Amino acid sequence: MKKVIKSVSLCILIGVFCFSFCFCFKTDKVASPPKKITVVIDAGHGGIDGGVSGVLTKVSESEINLSISKKLAKVFEDSGFTVVQTRRSSGGLYGFLGAGFKMRDMQAREKIIKDSNPTLVISIHQNNFSDHSRRGAQVFYHMGREQSKEFAICMQQVLNKMEENAKKSSALSGDYYVLKVSPCPAIIIECGFLSNEQDEKLLLSEEYQQKLSNQIFYGCLQYLTSTKY
Ligand SMILES: [Zn+2]
Repeated sequence: MKKVIKSVSLCILIGVFCFSFCFCFKTDKVASPPKKITVVIDAGHGGIDGGVSGVLTKVSESEINLSISKKLAKVFEDSGFTVVQTRRSSGGLYGFLGAGFKMRDMQAREKIIKDSNPTLVISIHQNNFSDHSRRGAQVFYHMGREQSKEFAICMQQVLNKMEENAKKSSALSGDYYVLKVSPCPAIIIECGFLSNEQDEKLLLSEEYQQKLSNQIFYGCLQYLTSTKY
């Protein structure tokens, strides 16, 4: 019986995948959505914590994170997934200013993630590096988390296929609060480098943000169809 349920779930996912790509991610509803799958989308930073900023326009990372996260949430929702966003406005989650605001912000994200009982967690960020020639998307997972590692490797491969992704990277491990506290496969996607002018121009483009969101969605489907969840 378990095998049958698994097979049906896989068929639904593959159906969503085919539908989404054949119709170029139009917003039509899928007939039999996999409602049991909940995805937490975490737009990094917010409020007084703007993250890194663009070398060209000084745009704040938090703003781009939110814009991509909203587009990504819509792609998932339009395909019938349950989506929980940790942040839906420009404000941070720390509650009040003052000492410890960063930890309060992290703990608020942790509570949202744990209360959601998600299947996947995707945290959206933008990168920055002293070498301004560095470009491309980079996916991170929490060290020692095998499922997250598989998810990260899968996502990195999918993002490397984008023609705009000038630098082909490998998924990397690190020590990240949001990933550590997530009870399921969880990754950070650094979508590009705001320290690079070309990446910044791309990341500011609504069209590229949508294309990237579609690709991230595709990466999630690839992972879900290749693993137990
Ligand atoms: Zn960040």
